[in-house]
Amino acid sequence: MNLREGAGSMANDAAGSWIGFDLGGTKMHAVLFDGQYQVLARRRKKTRGHEGADAGVERICGIIEKLCDEAKLPLKSVAGIGIGIPGPIDMEAGRILGAPNLGWSDVPLKAILEKRFGCPVAVCNDVDAGLFGEYTAGAAAGSRTALGVFPGTGIGGGMVYEGRIYRGKHASCLEIGHTVVDPNGPPCGCGRRGCLEAVASRLAISAEIAKAAYRGQAKHLIRVAGTDLANIRSGTLAEAIAAGDEIVEEIVRIGARRLGIVLAGYVNVLLPDCIILGGGLVEALPGIYLDEIQNELKNRVMPAYTEQFEVKVAELGDNAGVIGAAAWARHQLSSTGPTTLPA
Ligand SMILES: [Zn+2]
Repeated sequence: MNLREGAGSMANDAAGSWIGFDLGGTKMHAVLFDGQYQVLARRRKKTRGHEGADAGVERICGIIEKLCDEAKLPLKSVAGIGIGIPGPIDMEAGRILGAPNLGWSDVPLKAILEKRFGCPVAVCNDVDAGLFGEYTAGAAAGSRTALGVFPGTGIGGGMVYEGRIYRGKHASCLEIGHTVVDPNGPPCGCGRRGCLEAVASRLAISAEIAKAAYRGQAKHLIRVAGTDLANIRSGTLAEAIAAGDEIVEEIVRIGARRLGIVLAGYVNVLLPDCIILGGGLVEALPGIYLDEIQNELKNRVMPAYTEQFEVKVAELGDNAGVIGAAAWARHQLSSTGPTTLPA
């Protein structure tokens, strides 16, 4: 992996090491980087969100301490910690507003970690972190406006505009997955109804495919996964399609097209020069997603816009979240000065 620096904003950073932390719904992934994004230490651990926020924060702290132990680096020499959270957050205060995948709400994570470790902490949304990673060292490098959409278990979205994560006054935003596509559609995890995520996420697609398998229309899939949704992973869908399950491919393509139709609306509003596709479904089936989405965009965006953007597949895999979280912490420190720390 060739890790390049993002455009300009980090040029005058002091050297030092940075921690990028990706707090996922099921696993934690954290990396201690040097100033050139070379990996000094890496840890992965299960999240166990159901054990509650206090226990979860302790697990986060334990990983950070182990990273420094492993690299034989004192914690006080860490220049900053960036952490991506699966859910909406108050980016200013570094507070988790609600993370349904973890079952946590209202956790002042920035304040807790700064007090514990004595170094500045930047908290962002995990999808924003992943896109900022691609902007810093991957497929979105050099773009002015990068729009990212990440279909997997849910459908995440994010945008980097002129080197910064685009956000509301306080909260993270770009919840593309919760664009309404069918006012009377199925209930969504957000509590509303008919969102894109409720019809085109891996869970939604897998539910359709499980029905087809039950009807005997997907013989390869039923052999490897049965009709249990928990066993129908993105990789399973790719295997079944490769083995010739046409109905699986058709259902996946319908989901990809619905995503493309929604994205066309966002392109008309935001005109990103770079659209990044990532997430579990795209990683497993990049050809289908690129094909269907590019086709919908070509046919649906304003004619004057059709040549003004590129659609690319994310390059960094699960390194995107940790690189992006660390890079965002660096960006915050270099553009606003060091965060005030408790005495
Ligand atoms: Zn929703």
